[in-house]
Amino acid sequence: MKRWLAWMLLLLILCASAAAEDLGALSDYLAAADVSALGASAWTEEAGGRVLSVSPSADAMVSLCAEGGRLVAISVTAPKGDLCEKLARLALLPGGWIDEAALDAMLEKGEGGAAGDALLTLVQGELREGVYLCAKGEMDDLYWQPLHGGEDRHKSPNCSGMDVPRLITGAAADALNLPPCEKCAGGKAE
Ligand SMILES: [Zn+2]
Repeated sequence: MKRWLAWMLLLLILCASAAAEDLGALSDYLAAADVSALGASAWTEEAGGRVLSVSPSADAMVSLCAEGGRLVAISVTAPKGDLCEKLARLALLPGGWIDEAALDAMLEKGEGGAAGDALLTLVQGELREGVYLCAKGEMDDLYWQPLHGGEDRHKSPNCSGMDVPRLITGAAADALNLPPCEKCAGGKAE
C-alpha cells in the first residue's frame, strides 16, 4: 500500500513539473523585483508584457514576456560589459528559478542551459549582449524581436542583422505587425 502511494505521489510530482509552462504570475514577479536596485523607476506596459528601461543608458532594458497574466520569459539586454551580467543577476534571481551559483557558472562560461523549469540563453551581438530566461517548453511558441537591426520576427536569436533581440509572444509579434523572417521563421521573400 505504501509503495502504491509513493508511486502515485511520484506521478503527481512528474505531472506538476511537466505542467510548468510559465515562470509564475506576472504580479508576483513585479512585487519581488527590486526596480530601484535595477536603476530604473517603473515598469511600462509594452508588447503584452512589461519593460523596464534602465538608466542612464536607454540601451539597457529588462523586458518581461507575459501571456494571460503569467510570466513566460525575461530578456535582459545591455551594451557589452559588466552591466548585462549585473542586471541579469538582479532581474533573474528574485524569481527563484535559478540559484546564484548556477547563474554565475553559466555567465562565466558564456553558456546557457537548463535551469530548473526554465531555459537560460546567452546572446552576443555586435555591440550588445543579452541574457534570457524562458519557461521550459515555451520557447517554441515565442519569437525573437530585434531591438536593433530589422523589423522581422525571428525563430533564431542569432539570425543575421540583429544586435541582440528580446523574447515576445506570437500575439505581441502580431500586434506589432512584425513579419516572419524568411531565413528562420518561414516568411516569404517579397
Ligand atoms: Zn531570422
